[in-house]
Amino acid sequence: MTGNPLPQAGVPRVRRRLEITGVVQGVGFRPFVYRLAREGCLTGWVRNTSRGVELEVEGEPAAVEVFTARLLAEPPALARLEAVRQMEVAAEGDRAFVIRESEGAGATEPVIPPDAGLCADCAREVLDPADRRFRYPFTNCTHCGPRFTIIRQVPYDRQETTMAAFAMCPDCRREYEDPGDRRFHAEPTACPVCGPRAWVEMEGRELPGEAVRVAAELLKAGQIVAVKGLGGFHLACDARNPEAVKRLRERKGRKDKPFAVMVRDLAEARRLACLDEAAEALLLSPARPIVLAPAREDAGLPPEVAPGHRLVGLLVPYTPLHLLLMEAAPPALVMTSGNLSEEPLVSDNEEARVKLGPLADAFLFHDREIAVPCDDSVVRALPGGAIPLRRARGYVPQPVALPVAAAQDILGVGAEQKSTFCLAWGDKALLSQHLGDLDSLETYDYFCRAVRHLAALTRRRVQVVAHDLHPDYLSTRYAREQAGVQLVGVQHHHAHIAACLAEHGVTGPALGLALDGTGFGTDGTVWGGELLAADLASFIRLGHLAGVRLPGGEAAIRRPGRMAAAYLHAAFGEHWDQVRGALGLSFDPLERRLLERQLATGWQSPLTSSAGRLFDAVAAALGICRVRTYEGQPAIALEMAAAAGEEPAYPFPMQVAGEKLVMDGPALLRAAVADFLGGTPAARVAGRFLASFGVGLADALLWARERTRLNRVALSGGVFQNARLLHHLTTRLEAAGFEVLTHRLVPPNDGGISLGQVAVAAARLRRE
Ligand SMILES: [Zn+2]
Ligand SMILES: [Zn+2]
Ligand SMILES: [Zn+2]
Repeated sequence: MTGNPLPQAGVPRVRRRLEITGVVQGVGFRPFVYRLAREGCLTGWVRNTSRGVELEVEGEPAAVEVFTARLLAEPPALARLEAVRQMEVAAEGDRAFVIRESEGAGATEPVIPPDAGLCADCAREVLDPADRRFRYPFTNCTHCGPRFTIIRQVPYDRQETTMAAFAMCPDCRREYEDPGDRRFHAEPTACPVCGPRAWVEMEGRELPGEAVRVAAELLKAGQIVAVKGLGGFHLACDARNPEAVKRLRERKGRKDKPFAVMVRDLAEARRLACLDEAAEALLLSPARPIVLAPAREDAGLPPEVAPGHRLVGLLVPYTPLHLLLMEAAPPALVMTSGNLSEEPLVSDNEEARVKLGPLADAFLFHDREIAVPCDDSVVRALPGGAIPLRRARGYVPQPVALPVAAAQDILGVGAEQKSTFCLAWGDKALLSQHLGDLDSLETYDYFCRAVRHLAALTRRRVQVVAHDLHPDYLSTRYAREQAGVQLVGVQHHHAHIAACLAEHGVTGPALGLALDGTGFGTDGTVWGGELLAADLASFIRLGHLAGVRLPGGEAAIRRPGRMAAAYLHAAFGEHWDQVRGALGLSFDPLERRLLERQLATGWQSPLTSSAGRLFDAVAAALGICRVRTYEGQPAIALEMAAAAGEEPAYPFPMQVAGEKLVMDGPALLRAAVADFLGGTPAARVAGRFLASFGVGLADALLWARERTRLNRVALSGGVFQNARLLHHLTTRLEAAGFEVLTHRLVPPNDGGISLGQVAVAAARLRRE
């Protein structure tokens, strides 16, 4: 590599060495350094090492200063500098700046970058008629493009990706080999001459014309098009066409669960949702997640997009294919995962023809294979910071740092719902993408394949498997079937709290409030409203919501009306049926007889302290949600219905029984129901209920602080996806001087459990 001017005699030269750790490989860092060095007329070298990147630059003192300042201030978009060590070394008088071979390639930890959304430079090229990549849907560079989803094996270079099928043309090769080019070592680089192609298929035959334009025309005409993207297929239709959206709901068998909407650009996003600066930044960030934000009343979207919802999930184009499609298609498209209800995402063309054929009118296909299916990530934008709800494309497999290093290779297998797994070694924990609910054979197969793949990519040999205590979860069975590994059982809510502690880099002890739907307790009952004192290795149950019957077990989870009956029974005793009648809550005669028997005798009705079930009961009692068509719907409906600005109006009594604080959920529900029957509108009752619940929980934590002297509190569990509750509770806690930890990196729901499991296992193994 040449082109550096020779040093001038007489000018003093200094040499500086920099050692940089963080995300600096596979993100265009070396070419960036090369460019900076050349611009500053500096000599020296840069290379990848097992820990990151190291480099030496030599030249005039002022130029070295400028180089260092720019290196720190303007690194490539996907780079994350964690630590930078600088030292002055003796000048060597070298004549050029070069990119050296990696040091000790064998010892290097494999780099597996996440997929990254289309960068501004590539977007410009795609829209520039003079550029050789004009309108090319697979344009990418070192700053953007597919990564995790195309990697079959490590090391991450083209031969080991699904791009191996495409031989680079001479032009692409030249860019790939030029350290001054944005595509220097961009493994998936391609162009219209040599790269993948897209086409539209309808009724088994390919339609003529430019694929993205043809697909856009079909969408304009109200058709449903299956679009192959980065990590799998989407089913797309015009979001402003109620007929099309309705048809998509019917075909997908998805009654109420909100659809995500891809918008052409930020202007269109602003037309649909109220976005603050942070939400907009998130929307446009390299991960390009679906961002949940308050919908505008005048957005003009039909209710079928997100029935009964006040939020809308938006995403912007994240590949050139989407960019070109959205340019000609309606400005807002429903983009929902291309799968049958609750099955894994479809990612293969042949499978798509079979499985999505009945759902889609046409396909926008391409011939770049997807090695790892990966859903869109979902985050909820809130004024206090975003909460991740689903961690997948764009974030996976970025590691989370563990506060206690794992002495062995640990696999956390997660729970059941919103399944993820987590591989940990040293101080690194690597969470898998969201895999769906682990309750079918299809998902189980997908889970097993994903574990094998990620273990192979990271070159890990799992020695310890951490799992939930629930004996019937498929994840638990998977753990038990592994030969020659050490098993570590981790209580569900302890794992929630440990996940929250771990992502904040702390080991505890801390107070933990874990609120969710279901988790297997150490006493064999169903937990879900838990007040703990915990560190990573162990926990004590300090308190919980009062136990209420779960009439018919699973049936009570699927039908919130049953849960309302159980709570009414607990709250009003023998008068419960009268109250039920007054609320207009009805059951068919058979179900009613069964319910009465279950509530009177406890037959097939285990006790539960679940907060999720209390929310179900309130939502059903108030008539806000009596039929559930997707997981978490009653709690979401309650939050959506709740009027803003309501005061905490209901008593939420607690008492200490046998050392444990028992929070009286039935009493809280009794007050809410009485208020409602007294004529207060459901929306206001819902608002008062959430405020009262939040205040009660804060009181419980004050009690716990008094007892334990712990001032730090971790909030976790699916219930903390509820922004209203989170707000009421954290405001109170912070006013009382608590240090409050909430989820920022992994979801508060069961998608974050696997991180907690490995954190607990790592801490316990350390202690042994
Ligand atoms: Zn790019
Ligand atoms: Zn090419
Ligand atoms: Zn949970």
